[in-house]
Amino acid sequence: MSERKNIYFFHKTATPFEDKIKRLKSVALDNGFNLVDQFEDANIIASIGGDGAFLQSVRKTGFRDDVLYVGVSTGQLGFYCDFVLDDISGMLDAMMNEQIEVRRYPTIQVQIDKDASFYCLNECSIRSGIIKTLSLDLYIDELFFERFKGDGMVISTPTGSTGYNKSLNGSIVDPKLPCMQISEVASINNNHYRTLGSSFILSNQRTLEIRMVNDGNTFPIIGMDNEALSIRNSQFIRIQLTDKRIKTVKLKDNSFWHKVKRSFL
Ligand code: NAP
Ligand code: MN
Repeated sequence: MSERKNIYFFHKTATPFEDKIKRLKSVALDNGFNLVDQFEDANIIASIGGDGAFLQSVRKTGFRDDVLYVGVSTGQLGFYCDFVLDDISGMLDAMMNEQIEVRRYPTIQVQIDKDASFYCLNECSIRSGIIKTLSLDLYIDELFFERFKGDGMVISTPTGSTGYNKSLNGSIVDPKLPCMQISEVASINNNHYRTLGSSFILSNQRTLEIRMVNDGNTFPIIGMDNEALSIRNSQFIRIQLTDKRIKTVKLKDNSFWHKVKRSFL
C-alpha cells in the first residue's frame, strides 16, 4: 500500500457533500497522500457517491488495471463501496493498519462491429429504444444457438449478477468464477418463437456473438453499465470475458457474500 500515494478523487462538483469531501481530502493530505488533478497521474482512484459513481469512475478513467479503485459511499455501504464518507477515521484506520485487501473483479469486453470496443464491470444490455420488440440471433462460439425476440438481453459479469441480472431472476455468481451470465428480458415464447427461457452461464473460453436481425426495429440501444449508446447501424456485437481485472480495495471480512447478505437478506 505504502508506495501508492497519488490519489485522484472522482465526484460531482456541486454536491451536498462538499464539506465532507473537503475534509476527506485534507485528512488524506495530512496522512502523506498526494492529491492529483489528472487521473492519469494517480495510482489510487477514489469515487465518492454510490455504486453508480463507482461504475462511472472506472469507465471515465479507462478501466485501468494498474490502479486501485476505492468506492466511498455518501450513503450506506454498497456493492462497490467498502467505505462511507461519514466514517473518515474508520477509513484511515483501515488503510494504515493493513486491514484492507485487494480484490479483483472480472470485466467483459464488448466489441461492436469491427469499429469499437468497450469494457463493462456490471453488465452489457441490448434493448430496444422504442416500444417494440427486438430480434437478435445468438451464437455461442460458432454455433447458432437461438433467435431471440423480446425486450432485450443482459450479459453480466459475476459482480453485475447482483444488479440488473438479479431483477431478471438470473443467478448470483461468485466473482471468483471467471464467467458471464446471459439473461433474457421478456422473451416472446410461443409456437413461432422459441428461446431457452432461462439464464445461462458461459465460461471465459467462450465468445457470445449477437447479430442484429433486421425485422423493422431500427432503434436498438446498448447499455454498458450505466451508460447508453445507440447501435442503429450495427451488425453484430461480440462479448467475451477479458483478462483485465479491476482492482478494488476491500476491507477484511467483507467478502462478496457478506455484501450479498447485507444487501438482500
Ligand atoms: P441507478 O438506476 O441509479 O441504480 C440502480 C441500483 O443498482 C442502485 O441502487 C445501485 O446502487 C445499484 N447497483 C449498481 N450496481 C450494482 C451491483 N453490481 N450490485 C448491486 N446493486 C448495484 O443506476 P446506477 O447506480 O447508475 O447503476 C447502474 C446499474 O444499475 C446497472 O449497471 C445495472 O446493474 C443496474 N440496473 C438495474 C436495473 C434493474 O434492476 N431493473 C435496471 C437498470 C440498471 P447505488 O445506489 O449505490 O448507485
Ligand atoms: Mn445510483
